[in-house]
Amino acid sequence: MQYILSLDQGTTSSRAMLFDHAGAVVAMEQAEFAQIYPQPGWVEHDAQEIWQSQLKTAKNCLKNISNQPVAHTIRAQADPVLIASPKFQVLGIGITNQRETTVLWDRRTGQPLANAIVWQDRRTAARCDELRSLGHAELIQQKTGLVLDAYFSATKLAWLLDNIPGARARADKGELAFGTMDSWLIWNLTGGHRGGVHVTDASNASRTLLFNIHTLQWDDELLALFNIPPSLLPKVVASSGVVGQTDAALFGAPVPIAGIAGDQQAATFGQACLKPGMAKNTYGTGCFMLMNTGSQPVASSHKLLSTVGWQLGNKATYCLEGSVFMGGATIQWLRDGLGIIQSATEVQALAESVPDSGDMYLVPAFTGLGTPHWDPYARGAMLGITRGTTRAHIARAALEAIALQSADVFTAMSQDAGFALSELRADGGASANDLLMQMQADFSGVPVVRPKVLETTALGAAYLAGLAVGFWSSVDEIASQWQMDRRFEPRISADDRAVKLARWHKALARAKAWAAD
Ligand code: ADP
Repeated sequence: MQYILSLDQGTTSSRAMLFDHAGAVVAMEQAEFAQIYPQPGWVEHDAQEIWQSQLKTAKNCLKNISNQPVAHTIRAQADPVLIASPKFQVLGIGITNQRETTVLWDRRTGQPLANAIVWQDRRTAARCDELRSLGHAELIQQKTGLVLDAYFSATKLAWLLDNIPGARARADKGELAFGTMDSWLIWNLTGGHRGGVHVTDASNASRTLLFNIHTLQWDDELLALFNIPPSLLPKVVASSGVVGQTDAALFGAPVPIAGIAGDQQAATFGQACLKPGMAKNTYGTGCFMLMNTGSQPVASSHKLLSTVGWQLGNKATYCLEGSVFMGGATIQWLRDGLGIIQSATEVQALAESVPDSGDMYLVPAFTGLGTPHWDPYARGAMLGITRGTTRAHIARAALEAIALQSADVFTAMSQDAGFALSELRADGGASANDLLMQMQADFSGVPVVRPKVLETTALGAAYLAGLAVGFWSSVDEIASQWQMDRRFEPRISADDRAVKLARWHKALARAKAWAAD
């Protein structure tokens, strides 16, 4: 009975999952934690609460599995010797995490100096504007593959150093540590202030604006530009490889921490998009599409991000990434904002009660538009409403909007890649919706395939860890484990697709820049 434990530290919850050798989930635990909104546009997390929630889910997950009958008769012991039984072994831990969220802590006490600043936090937008007006955006994009935006870690970390009294002086003396959630969890898992390991992997480092994705190293010029002392930084390691052992007191025996990747990159790995040109789209709150571009980063001409997917040994695999802000959240709005459905699962039947949206379009630009528009001033709109429009048409238009936004990202990706992508792999909560998957195939003009295991983020981290400890032998073995649940073929003609996209783009144009004045 051998397993890999995956810790999936997300934006709203911490989850722990145990995977068996077939890549199946055998135990899962989840704990939510507080979202802290001190001011409009600010979003914070309590890093200690996150660490405790993550530890609790890990322990409960191990307890659950060890309390089940194992090999007919022998039960592994529960806490405190969670994993010491010869009948029940956790070979390694993989960590995957919400990206960019920034923690600053005291190396001596192990205490964070302030709440973590979450990726969604906009407090440093003006600082980014300032750096842009000074002409730094191009250099930053060349080196990091990212756009200069408050979304990423660098300006968040500088904000903490500048706003916590004494922080800068203490940082200069080497007393403080910076990390994204992967670093923070690993440091705590490996002993914290009593000798914890301070590392991050290349996929997480590539989201900070401080990391050169070509040299795979922290970049002195960027550190100077953002005014970040190098003493704060974690060591950058490969995404697969043992970086340390967990403190034996935590789980009853030390376990190697053997895999690390940011959540979207981990999902791409978990979807076995392991060859250049393979792409996945995750339909969660937002939609995140990543395409493997192989051993070279591709500089986007369509406002996609270029990022490290994962690093195996000293070799990085790069991805292009595009994001849609309102994905499944559009369906949440139908439920909570409009009250036209009671739960997200009802949306499919409601939308299927009409044959089409009646030429009605919903542009869910509720928080602006992401790739390829990057228009923070766009706002939501419904166009083409007639007296015949019903809540069913709205439901259908909402699902179409998720697929149409993703189709635009898909087109941008194909244009940057310079070739036509042959299929799109789907995952995330809303990918359970068959109608949405069919719409995606229709509007993108390629087959959409959904895997059996939808927990691709946690699975990707487990794969990275399992590769390092020999649980899986090779990337090829992982690719061969991927199993399809269902394949959705495009059913509309190229002409009908062109008409649909033209109407959609007309609707988009009406919603753009709405809040600019
Ligand atoms: P996240 O990880 O971002 O919290 P999940 O992958 O858990 O998101 O997916 C949840 C999202 O999917 C919610 O926004 C929800 O509205 C949407 N969703 C869930 N089930 C369905 C469904 N059957 N059809 C459409 N959307 C759905």
